[in-house]
Amino acid sequence: MSGLGKRGRGWGGAWEGWLPAVVKSHSVSCVSVRAALCCRAVVAEFNPFPWLSSPSIEPRGHIEVVTGGMFSGKTEELIRRLRLAMHAKRKVQAFKPRIDDRYDATKVMTHFGVGIEAVAVPNSAALEARVEADTQVVGVDEAQFFDAGIVDLVERLADRGVCVLLAGLDQDYLGRPFAPMPQLMAIAEHVTKVYAVCAVCGAPATRSQRIVEQKSTILVGGDESYEPRCRCCFQRRELSRTS
Ligand SMILES: [Zn+2]
Repeated sequence: MSGLGKRGRGWGGAWEGWLPAVVKSHSVSCVSVRAALCCRAVVAEFNPFPWLSSPSIEPRGHIEVVTGGMFSGKTEELIRRLRLAMHAKRKVQAFKPRIDDRYDATKVMTHFGVGIEAVAVPNSAALEARVEADTQVVGVDEAQFFDAGIVDLVERLADRGVCVLLAGLDQDYLGRPFAPMPQLMAIAEHVTKVYAVCAVCGAPATRSQRIVEQKSTILVGGDESYEPRCRCCFQRRELSRTS
């Protein structure tokens, strides 16, 4: 974080300061220069707001949402983006709802065992209390399990210059919008939908089929409880009759 100065709070400032340092540290190596150029390509893909790099504009935060069904790689994508921020020497904090303790109580974990340190909090107020004043990037996994207060909170964080990255399910087990994800998607600058593979036909899967008898909206589980389905193979009505 040091050396980035005040402009370090926006994505552009961080990358702009970081890339030349990479090139300098590998001075005459063509391979390293190519690697640095590759990094720049990643930046171009990741930062959709080139005006954030302008030295004449104050740095500002923004909100990104990664969403889709279960097994679609949401958490992997969240972790990838948070690791990019860490490589850029940004101060990162990751959070997850305390309700989700399937894999690890102190990490955001994927189904495949990939993890990153995270703080488990019971609600949005607790999350806000844990965000430190100099944090530049906040990651939130399983955002659909937070209360409605998460929407105002991430808006306030972004307004004060923090980049907020959220991952969460867009639909519940009946295919209904899973609040507060619709609100978060609406206020986000950047939304990425990711897809799993339908367990029945192999098409891109946008739904999470519950395969065990359980009527509550929240049933935290893995592949023993859910499988990815496409629109055609998803059995909403059959499950609705049991609820
Ligand atoms: Zn299908």
